[in-house]
Amino acid sequence: MKLPAKAAQPNSENLPFFEGAEKGDLVLPRCDDCDFVIWFPREICPECGSQKVSWFKASGKGSIYSSTVTRRIPGGWSKVTPFVLAYVELDEGPRVMTNIVECDPEHVSIGDRVEAVFEEATNRDGESGPPLLRFRVTES
Ligand SMILES: [Zn+2]
Repeated sequence: MKLPAKAAQPNSENLPFFEGAEKGDLVLPRCDDCDFVIWFPREICPECGSQKVSWFKASGKGSIYSSTVTRRIPGGWSKVTPFVLAYVELDEGPRVMTNIVECDPEHVSIGDRVEAVFEEATNRDGESGPPLLRFRVTES
């Protein structure tokens, strides 16, 4: 069953990320001064404070850095257990908290190779919003 997907609210600082997501591309900011790849998407470098960033198309690939299986949870998510919450370390460096989808939760492991998938997301009124970044395992 599909995990709930709440649409994000794009703003002027992260718009390139969401425009990329609409096309299925993972677009991230990189600091022009120190080359740090920034997550979550914003136009200020958390490493050096520079506000000079350039957006680039990332590979969308990474590895599972850590993961946990949620088997019981109250509320709307109770219908979709078990599911995997993970930190994915992108090949470009950042670690992203995310869900691993299209998987057998019992067979997701640290080090598994993953790729970005963008899932349809809806807002409070049930209208569709920018797709949500999640990951699926490509190699365990
Ligand atoms: Zn920087």
